[in-house]
Amino acid sequence: MATIPAVSEDVLAKYEPVIGLEVHVQLLTESKIFCSCSTRFGDPPNTNVCPVCLGLPGALPVLNRKAVEFAVLAAMALQCRINAVSIFARKNYFYPDLPKGYQISQYDKPLAEFGFIDIDLRGNELAGNANGGNQRGQKKKIGITRLHLEEDAGKSLHEGFADAATKTAIDLNRTGVPLAEIVSEPDMRSPEEAYQYLTRLKEIILYTGVSDCNMEEGSLRCDANISVRLRGQKEFGTKTEVKNVNSFRFIKQALEYEIERHIGILESGGKIAQETRLYNSHEGKTYGMRSKEQAHDYRYFPEPDLLPLAVDEKWQTAIRASLPELPEARRERMMKEYGITAGDAHALTMTRALADQFESAARRAKNPKRVANLVQSELLGRLKALGLELEQSPISMEGVTASADLVESGAISGKMLKDLYDLGFERGQDFPVVYEAEGRPEQSRDTSALEKIADELIAANPKQVEQYRAGKKTVLGFFVGQVMKASKGQANPQLVNEVLMKKLEQ
Ligand SMILES: [Zn+2]
Repeated sequence: MATIPAVSEDVLAKYEPVIGLEVHVQLLTESKIFCSCSTRFGDPPNTNVCPVCLGLPGALPVLNRKAVEFAVLAAMALQCRINAVSIFARKNYFYPDLPKGYQISQYDKPLAEFGFIDIDLRGNELAGNANGGNQRGQKKKIGITRLHLEEDAGKSLHEGFADAATKTAIDLNRTGVPLAEIVSEPDMRSPEEAYQYLTRLKEIILYTGVSDCNMEEGSLRCDANISVRLRGQKEFGTKTEVKNVNSFRFIKQALEYEIERHIGILESGGKIAQETRLYNSHEGKTYGMRSKEQAHDYRYFPEPDLLPLAVDEKWQTAIRASLPELPEARRERMMKEYGITAGDAHALTMTRALADQFESAARRAKNPKRVANLVQSELLGRLKALGLELEQSPISMEGVTASADLVESGAISGKMLKDLYDLGFERGQDFPVVYEAEGRPEQSRDTSALEKIADELIAANPKQVEQYRAGKKTVLGFFVGQVMKASKGQANPQLVNEVLMKKLEQ
C-alpha cells in the first residue's frame, strides 16, 4: 500500500474536516423484530432461529410492538419528530449472513426525523475533572437526520472452531434482532466533536433504557463518514466511510488518521476514492475494504409483507409518558438544587443509577455538596481502584450520607472519614457498621494543642498578622491552611477557625 505523505500542522490547518456518524443500537426487546425468537446474546450458534428469521420461503414477518415503542422512545429522547406513518422497505444485497437476500429496513419514510444532540465542547474536560468549576463550555447542536427501525443481520465467524483457518461459519442468532439506526447530519468538524456526540448519544440512549449500548457485544456500532475541504469552501469533499470500529476512542483515532490521509492525498495532487475502509487499531491505520455501493444498488422498495407503520398521537403520548428526565436537563437541575459544580454534575450523572443514588443521598444529607465530593473522591475512587461496580460497594449511599453528616457537624475529621472508609472496604462493611465497631470515634475538641500551633504561627508570620488586623480577612485562609498542615489534616477545621479568629483578633 502507498505510504501517506507526512502533513505539517500548517497544511492540516488549511482544511476543515466534515464528519457524519451512523450509529446502530440493538433494542433490548426479549424477542426479535419480526418473529418470536429470543434475542439473548451468547447462546449457542443458530439456536434462536425460525423460518421467519432464516428467510425460508413463505414465512411472513410480524412486527414486534415493543421494538416500535423502544425506537420511538429513543427518537423522542433525541428530540426527533415522530412520523405518524412510516414505511418498511427492502434493502437488497447479497451477503452470507443475510439469508433472505434483503434486509427489512426503512428508506424514504423513516420512523423519525429532525432531531439533535447538544454537545458540550468542553465536555471531556468537565467529565475528567471533578472540580471542573462552574464555567460551562460552549454548546454545539449536532443535527440528527433520521432514526429508523431495521433488523440486524447474522454474524460471520472467522475464529473459534476447528477449520477456522479455511472456512467461515455463520451464526444466525442475531438475524432479526431489532436495531435503531441513528443518522447524524454532517455537522461535526473534528474527531473530538464526533467523540463528544457519541458519548452524549450513548448516555441518552442508556438513560432511556432501550439499549444496553454494549460495544463489546455489538449492541452499539458506529460507522463514520469523513471528508475534508479547504476552509471557507462550501462544497463537501469526497467522503470515505470507516466501518465497525468497536470503541469511541478508536473512532476518534480512525478519524484523525483519515483526515491526515485525505489531506496528504489532496496536497500531493491526488483524488480521494469514495470507499468503505476498516480501521486496524493495532496499527492505527485504515485499509480500503470495498468501493461504496451507491444507494440505488440496494434496489429499495416498500416491503410487501408489512403494512405501513402507524404511530398515532395517542400512542406517541403514551410512549412519551415513559420518557425519563434526560442527562443534560438533570445536570442543570442538580446544579441548581444541590449547589454543585458542572464538573460534579457531569461525574454524578454518568449513569442513571449513579444519579438516582446520589440524589437519594443528597436529599437526606445536611450538605448535598459534601455528599457530591465524598461520592467522587472517596467512593468512586476506591471502587475504580478495586474494579468494582457501584452496586458492589460495601459502603452504601446511606453510609455516605451518614458519614457526610458526621463530617459536617464536626464530629469526625476528613482524615478519620478516610480511615473509616478504608476499614469499610477492607472488611466489606457499610459505614455505620464500621463507625459503631470502632466505638463511634470523635475528633478532639481539645483546643490546647491547636492553640499552641496557632501561637507559633502567629509569632512566625507577623506580616500576615498585620494584614489581617488591617482588615484583609482573607489571610485567615492562609493560617487555617498552615494549622491543618501542622496537624496533618487531623484538626477539626471549624475548631481551627474559632481558635485562629480568637487569637488574631486579640
Ligand atoms: Zn425467528
